[in-house]
Amino acid sequence: MAIISRETIEQVNQASDIVSVVGEYVSLEQRGSSWWGCCPFHSEKTPSFSVTPDKNIYYCFGCHEGGNVIKFVMEMEKIKFPEAVTLLAKKAGVEVKFEDGGSDDSQRAVDNTKEMYIDLYNRVAGTFHYLLVQTNDGKFALDYIKKRGLTMETIEKFKLGYAPSDRHWLKRFLKSKNFGDDFLEKSGLFSEKYPDSAFFSDRLMFPIFDRRGQVVAFSGRFLRGNSEKSPKYINSRDLVQFKKGETLFAFNFAKTAIRSEKKVIICEGQMDCIAYHQCGINYAVAPGGTALTESQIKIVRGYVTTVYLSLDSDAAGQTATFKDILLCRSAGLEVRVISIEGGKDPAEIMCKYGSEKLAQAVAAAAADNEYLLSSLSRKYGISTPEGKASVARDFFSYVDSLRSEIEKTTNLERLGEVLGVSLDSIKKDFENRLRASQSAPVRRPAATDGGEKILKKDAELKILLACVTDTKNFSFLHDELTENDFESDGAKDMFRILEDCLEQNCLSQDKILACCDNPEYMRIMVEAINSNEFGGDTEKFVKDGVSFIKRRSLEKQRNFLSDEMKKYNTNSSEGQMILRELFAKKLELDMKLNGKVR
Ligand SMILES: [Zn+2]
Repeated sequence: MAIISRETIEQVNQASDIVSVVGEYVSLEQRGSSWWGCCPFHSEKTPSFSVTPDKNIYYCFGCHEGGNVIKFVMEMEKIKFPEAVTLLAKKAGVEVKFEDGGSDDSQRAVDNTKEMYIDLYNRVAGTFHYLLVQTNDGKFALDYIKKRGLTMETIEKFKLGYAPSDRHWLKRFLKSKNFGDDFLEKSGLFSEKYPDSAFFSDRLMFPIFDRRGQVVAFSGRFLRGNSEKSPKYINSRDLVQFKKGETLFAFNFAKTAIRSEKKVIICEGQMDCIAYHQCGINYAVAPGGTALTESQIKIVRGYVTTVYLSLDSDAAGQTATFKDILLCRSAGLEVRVISIEGGKDPAEIMCKYGSEKLAQAVAAAAADNEYLLSSLSRKYGISTPEGKASVARDFFSYVDSLRSEIEKTTNLERLGEVLGVSLDSIKKDFENRLRASQSAPVRRPAATDGGEKILKKDAELKILLACVTDTKNFSFLHDELTENDFESDGAKDMFRILEDCLEQNCLSQDKILACCDNPEYMRIMVEAINSNEFGGDTEKFVKDGVSFIKRRSLEKQRNFLSDEMKKYNTNSSEGQMILRELFAKKLELDMKLNGKVR
């Protein structure tokens, strides 16, 4: 497998503007020479996440996550090093070259396949759109969405389409455009069981866009016929270019507004989401085909302080609202709940009363605790002790998900008021419940995803990290020590990373980071650069460390020689000769050691 050339990696790192790349995911504000925002890797309300363009790095003073622009893209997009480099290269207009001058077949293949499917989906979306707006086949679907109040402008913007009822049409059409059978079979556009049969047929089609605005999947809504047999919505399965739980419908359109408004509306489905956008409330997104996931919250967490939930008011919708409140609260976000009155969903409100009514519903959204107290009271009734206990039990999970002790207490007080029970009893029940559930771990989003080897920062590794904070120390260290002088695996690895850069003549922080494809090593390097843990005098720190390690190596060698010497017999002349040689070497070591010690 070919490897992306060092030159390309360096170029990509240089050419990518780290502030604007990070800024696509996190709102940043400039303060001095750095940019600051709320960390996308852990939950917080006051920014401790910094981007330093001079050093080309990002670093969080809260969770100590850090790295360069390549690592950031790896983390946010959940992709591997070569993919991140390729993605940034495309953005920066850098040509990707490989070490052997050849092509990286496997990586390029993955990349190409992904791009080819994205290309296919965009074409198919274009075709479906044409069928909807220009042909007789799609007319009834077009009439349906017009009747539901969507304008042509909205239909164009969201590229809505129609998948024809003839299940064999799409295969014939794409084959006539010279797409191969194998490629199409794996595209997700056809039934897995019957590869000639289209997966979507006779449906209103909602293309799902990635954050760049490329079509990567579809959701299809059933409009007529025996609807008991078919589900109302069907969605593309996970594909090389699409992960359902990690995509938010309309995020590409909503991104800018989400950033400026610092809030996001999470809708039940695509139709609702589109209705919000048409009414000018353009910070709405929809999970689409799944319940809201932690990964989806991560997409918006860097930008927003408040999540507005706009889910159905039926029993299923209420359960989902409850779950989503806990999920968002655990991620440190504030939550409001929009209630739709006078119609069954936002699309109907828009159609019946116009956009102002929907805007009013958003403005009147209830705080999550008030919403929960009233919906739980309705659900269980609070006229009986059992009802009160049930309300309290569910509400306690909400209190659990809150981060601040003040918020917790205030909410317990409010619960007491609503139930007409003293705060003391409420607190007692709350604490008893905590004690009972202590064995069950509370799920909190982790600061970093597990799986990576967590490096122990031993003394050896620290010496090498001091060389990262001031790279000229490494030239000195390298003259004195070799990889084998180190004992810990982490230090050996770090030595190799630095040695590699020295040999390639690129021993600068920026370039060391650019060439490091291991996220954990990168993280600790950036942490070292930012933490100032070696104080002002890294040179002395490194020199002391080097002489310690050198001495330890010499001692080891001397012990080894002493052991060897015991193996030889002074009676044979050959033995005597070897012993003399060993003795001379040992003497040399002794002198070195004594010289050094004093
Ligand atoms: Zn952080």
